[in-house]
Amino acid sequence: MHDRAVTKAPPLHRNLIAGRDVEAAGAEPLDVVCPSDGAVIARIQQSGAAEIDAAARAARQAFEGGWGLLTATERGRLLVKLSEAITAEGESLGALEALDTGKPISQGRADATAAARYFEFYGTSADKLHGDTIPFLNGYTVAVTREPHGVTGHIAPWNYPLQIVGRSVGAALACGNACVVKPAEDASLTALRVAQLAREVGFPDGALNVVTGLGSVAGAALSAHPGVDFMSFTGSPEVGTLVQQAAARHHAGVTLELGGKSPQIVFADADLDAAAPTLVKAIIQNGGQTCSAGSRVLIERRVFDDVARLLAPRFRALRAGPHDRDRDLGAMINAKQKRRVTGFIEAALRDGAPLLAEGAIDEDAPAGGFYVAPALLGPVARDARIAREEVFGPVLSLMPFDDEADAVALANGTDYGLVAGVWTNDAKRSMRVARAMRCGQVFVNGYGAGGGVELPFGGVKKSGHGREKGFEALYEFSAAKTIVIHHG
Ligand code: NAD
Repeated sequence: MHDRAVTKAPPLHRNLIAGRDVEAAGAEPLDVVCPSDGAVIARIQQSGAAEIDAAARAARQAFEGGWGLLTATERGRLLVKLSEAITAEGESLGALEALDTGKPISQGRADATAAARYFEFYGTSADKLHGDTIPFLNGYTVAVTREPHGVTGHIAPWNYPLQIVGRSVGAALACGNACVVKPAEDASLTALRVAQLAREVGFPDGALNVVTGLGSVAGAALSAHPGVDFMSFTGSPEVGTLVQQAAARHHAGVTLELGGKSPQIVFADADLDAAAPTLVKAIIQNGGQTCSAGSRVLIERRVFDDVARLLAPRFRALRAGPHDRDRDLGAMINAKQKRRVTGFIEAALRDGAPLLAEGAIDEDAPAGGFYVAPALLGPVARDARIAREEVFGPVLSLMPFDDEADAVALANGTDYGLVAGVWTNDAKRSMRVARAMRCGQVFVNGYGAGGGVELPFGGVKKSGHGREKGFEALYEFSAAKTIVIHHG
């Protein structure tokens, strides 16, 4: 039974700026609510422009001082130490992530493991980011070096705080940037802990700063700060536009990792039994609050009913419950998100989409939690809102298609372009369709919801631009400098 001793006052967390724990001046701290039961579990600083400015200055000082003087190998070693510290604390970090976001505890642990892996990957990559030489005119040598941008700002969402901070800050630090992180107000606790661990393993002061607060205040101040040379934003397309506009005023580069409406295309010749569990997992993982969730399953018409029959019992067996019970999914992050998701389901049903199956919520789940029962809908009309907009919840839409060309048009027919899945046993078709997808990542006969740490990731269209993850991110967080030497 989910249980909590409610006697203690919730702990107050401070910003980490220039290696010190500091309180924000002015505004009252923000309450942090556990989505599983609605209880206040902590308080975080409600920072404003002054704290962002202090963090940007601290990062600049680190970039021009202690952090900037380290060799790539030394930076890499520190990142590997941070990875080891995260691994050593994996159990409690995973539990903290689950408590803060409502996700099942096993997903919290997996996120901690992934964060450690990001820092390991980027730590061991730091001194492998080689430059280039270019054949040029006689008497010249041209070298291209990779230079850090300087101070990088990182705005993270609440769905995978540990993983997203790991992937973005890991790559930026490996390149030699100094970072200012503004985590989501709904889920800031693990980002703060990672920064503390960085301090403990010996990162120079100011190399990694974390400032908490509201997006419209602290986030806006970070994206508009002229001392931030490059912004990495992960979140909604609407806020991504604001961040890019603000950064453009001082000509800072931006990567935008935004939402998705990712299709999984199931051809009649696919191994449907093998596909079924993955099709369900791709939407249920993290309660569907995953940018790369496979939220549309496009099915060749003649096997539509077969696929629906395979998925329906799996959906009926799904259970939502408190994070510490480790059900298939936890609660939505907050009351607003719960309203948004249930609103989408109700509207789809009103518009005539059949409810093929529904999962359940633990009967004794705390009344204050933000639970939504998973829903399987289909066939969903192509122009329905649920077929085109990101729900960010445990809702899967099934849609039939007629042939390969129709499947490709349907898959590419939304404003988004993040990930796609192709299920077929026809090797040539798998390649044709993968190449035809307008998105950043395609899985054939599998689906990884973003895939591993090593795999470049990012979107096109409304899903954003720029790439994070993999070695590719190191090019994003650095810039080429061309040095032309005339030696005769
Ligand atoms: P959001 O855009 O509301 O918030 C994201 C971050 O932006 C938060 O830290 C928030 O405080 C901050 N923010 C809000 N207003 C701001 C402003 N005016 N200026 C600057 N910062 C501001 O997104 P969310 O609801 O936290 O996350 C859900 C969205 O994120 C979904 O659309 C999802 O698909 C997307 N997402 C994308 C990826 C990816 O890698 N492509 C990964 C995870 C989530």
